[in-house]
Amino acid sequence: FKKNNYPHSSELFKVFRSTFGLRDFRPNQLEAINAAILGHDCFVLMPTGGGKSLCYQLPAVLSNGVTLVISPLKSLVIDQTEKLKSLDIPTAHLLGNMPHQEENIIFTKLCMAEPGLKMLYVTPEKIAASMKLGQILDNLYGRGKLARLVIDEAHCVSHWGHDFRPDYKRLGEFRKKYPNVPIMALTATATPRVRQDILHQLQISGTKLFLSSFNRPNLLYKVVPKKGKSVLAEIANDIKRKYEHQSGIIYCLSRKECDDTAAFMCEQGIKATSYHAGLVDTKRNDVQMKWITNKTNVVCATIAFGMGIDKPDVRFVFHYSLPKSIEGYYQESGRAGRDGKTSHCLLYYNYQDMHRIRKLIELDTSGTAESKKVHVQNLFRIVSYCENKADCRRTLQLNYFGETFNDNQCISNKETACDNCQNKASFKYIDVTEDSIEIVKTIKELCNSSSNWNNNFTLIHLIDIFKGSTNQKIKTNNHDKLSLHGRGKHWDRLDAERLMHKLVLEGYIKEEMVASKLDIINAFVRVGSQGEKLLQGSIKLKLALTSKNKL
Ligand code: ADP
Ligand code: ZN
Repeated sequence: FKKNNYPHSSELFKVFRSTFGLRDFRPNQLEAINAAILGHDCFVLMPTGGGKSLCYQLPAVLSNGVTLVISPLKSLVIDQTEKLKSLDIPTAHLLGNMPHQEENIIFTKLCMAEPGLKMLYVTPEKIAASMKLGQILDNLYGRGKLARLVIDEAHCVSHWGHDFRPDYKRLGEFRKKYPNVPIMALTATATPRVRQDILHQLQISGTKLFLSSFNRPNLLYKVVPKKGKSVLAEIANDIKRKYEHQSGIIYCLSRKECDDTAAFMCEQGIKATSYHAGLVDTKRNDVQMKWITNKTNVVCATIAFGMGIDKPDVRFVFHYSLPKSIEGYYQESGRAGRDGKTSHCLLYYNYQDMHRIRKLIELDTSGTAESKKVHVQNLFRIVSYCENKADCRRTLQLNYFGETFNDNQCISNKETACDNCQNKASFKYIDVTEDSIEIVKTIKELCNSSSNWNNNFTLIHLIDIFKGSTNQKIKTNNHDKLSLHGRGKHWDRLDAERLMHKLVLEGYIKEEMVASKLDIINAFVRVGSQGEKLLQGSIKLKLALTSKNKL
């Protein structure tokens, strides 16, 4: 579909230049547009900011009849409609709470012999709720004036996506109802599982697939250790020094954390506000508006913030607490730098945040056992990402989405090379198999022992044993007599921690979440599901350690 000598091509380029005012296509745009105009079903996967909208807007202008666009986000629908109107493309939107009069004007236009609209944006709820709209679509279809169905943010149809919407499910009926109308589904969701599910749910097989690289070359990814309260002060200083008067987001885990962080930033003279689900709608809109119009610079928000907000000049996205998955991290950090300019994505990480999120998952009564398991798996993957000091961050993210990526592409741009690519020289891989076996053996021994020793101990205690600490708890329990005691005394503490974390994340050790009082859950160390395999000696483990270690 890359050709530009189709019968429609000259018209296509004319509209591209004069109506849309653009000069060069971005990767896959021309291909998707050609395929759409030729009547194929299309599935367009492009990262945020990649230019998905044009893939259906341009064909809409060239098609006979009305293109129906389903989009879940009111704010986006309104933005797009305004933008298209400003380009003199007859466009309208139907939303849940519109006055009847306004609706009727739109309906009248649609019923004209030659419909007075090229594009109609609707939310999925509106399609589900409005009988009148259904009748009008039937009528358009009957007259051959329903040009195309566009399903934007198509991941909303999938339970596996990050934003499932029940009303999207019903869009699967479209194919049966209007068999001759081509469908275009678009999303920036990159996981293969969600992609498969979208095609299945929408009942479109034989679709032309347009898959772009999900690499965001202008984003710098970095994982920063989050140690103690001073981190917030560091962040504030950083913002004042590097991003004065520029826009950014700080993602936090809880409402309270949003409020506290925003308050702290304000004390430091930064124009910051808090945003979370606990605020009333008007307040939330107000926060959004002020940020978009640069009246405030920094929003301290839960992940509810940012969906569907198309602010191009976001210079930084900081995660003050751990994201819930790699996919989530990709989406959230992806709100930076949509204008293509260098922007910074910093993830402030400590292992304890994992426990905070695990508690939320364990305490959540709405999920099934299966869904909890998936959530914990996702969480472990993002923790592994944070613990990783050796592999390119882009490679780690993109591999997760099934895309291959060559690290050289990351290093080649000095300004945006990830932390791991920049620090390659200061880490080297060490074989940690023997140490790991010794650790798992010790856990097994301790958990099986019937001595008066209380066999509930934490990972931190285990690290203390490994490092050879002689603190009170170790002495009273005689843990300084264990052969593991002091085995890692030459290790850098952070490396020792990373070894233990690796063993947890890969299932050799398990941290059992044990409920004690009310909300307090303790994590006690046990042998994990892969532990026996390791003891049998068939597994080799390597870990990248700081080269300052003298091992
Ligand atoms: P997406 O929906 O994939 O996140 P959009 O369709 O909103 O991205 O496009 C992102 C931005 O890029 C918009 O401002 C759009 O006008 C611009 N854009 C899209 N295609 C092109 C192009 N071929 N040339 C220049 N700018 C483009
Ligand atoms: Zn890299």
